[in-house]
Amino acid sequence: LLQGGLGWQSRLLGPACASVLAVDVLTADGEIIHADEHENSDLYWAARGSGPGFFGIVMRFHLRTHPRPPVTMASVQVFPLEVYEEVLTWAIETGPDLDPRVEILFVATNPRLEDGSTAPGPTAIQIIACAMADTEAEARDILSALDTNPVFDTAVTRTTFPATMDQMYAAVDALEPSGHRWLADNMWTDAGADVLVPQLRELFTTVPNDISHVLWYPWRDHPIDAAFSNTGRSYIAAYAGWDDPAQDAAYVGWVTGQMRRLEPLSKGIQLGDENLVNRPWRYLAEDNERRLEELREQYDPDGRFFGYLGL
Ligand SMILES: Cc1cc2nc3c(=O)[nH]c(=O)nc-3n(C[C@H](O)[C@H](O)[C@H](O)COP(=O)(O)OP(=O)(O)OC[C@H]3O[C@@H](n4cnc5c(N)ncnc54)[C@H](O)[C@@H]3O)c2cc1C
Repeated sequence: LLQGGLGWQSRLLGPACASVLAVDVLTADGEIIHADEHENSDLYWAARGSGPGFFGIVMRFHLRTHPRPPVTMASVQVFPLEVYEEVLTWAIETGPDLDPRVEILFVATNPRLEDGSTAPGPTAIQIIACAMADTEAEARDILSALDTNPVFDTAVTRTTFPATMDQMYAAVDALEPSGHRWLADNMWTDAGADVLVPQLRELFTTVPNDISHVLWYPWRDHPIDAAFSNTGRSYIAAYAGWDDPAQDAAYVGWVTGQMRRLEPLSKGIQLGDENLVNRPWRYLAEDNERRLEELREQYDPDGRFFGYLGL
């Protein structure tokens, strides 16, 4: 809620912070104040997008809730790495214009197939999509856009099924299991497929083990008058997961080095998957960052709260 919040239905409803109607904040001088569009509106502006750099403690979020669509259909497709170029080109060209009720993730990983085996190659390309709608027919219709993938027939596995929220959460947990060491880094970009597909090849094809992964996600712009800003047409994130602390340097180096290589394409980063300690990079639009720092000075002149790590 503080850093933005990207998840199911975000392409339709915007980041989670767009549904924050008000916050009750404990400020640096020990007061609890209510902030919304009309009252303390600058604090309300800052609380939506500043994430771990917010200069107050939110005691209560007041949220706009949304009706949950009755049907959720999930679709999982796994492609061999050989068709990386075709699948990613298609995804980048069509993804941002997909029906807003569909969420689609394009993941480079070593997914487990239904029979328990691992997909071929050092990594495979997995498309995980879900559509929320009023009826199953409508959800299937929305997901049928995935069939326009020109190498659809090369899928190693392809399945579409009605999913419960428990199954959806379990699928996300399976992607990022607990009990490991993790490092993420990310970027927003407006670059087109002609630039991204060749530039991302090294990142997508060097995923170091079967829990690490890379994802690409199409975004629909939802401009809001809040600190949250700086998004792009595509979101790209790399997640390294490992166990042995002796290997920290190698995994941190893979994530950080790959994202540093891609910096020329990057508009900025998302605070949810930030790597500011190793790679400080722009996390808000320039004007928003300036305004946030002015408000920090006003609300927390003695620096009682930590700001952003590494900056
Ligand atoms: C594996 C993984 C996957 C993720 N996937 C997604 C995703 O799909 N979409 C997405 O949007 N994000 C994602 N994130 C980021 C995640 O949303 C953030 O880590 C999350 O918002 C942190 O919430 P928390 O409650 O765990 O906060 P904490 O880790 O407890 O806190 C995060 C920061 O907020 C501050 N904070 C906490 N509570 C308050 C408060 N009440 N008032 C003021 N400051 C406070 C803390 O001091 C800290 O700086 C992912 C993170 C991980 C590790």
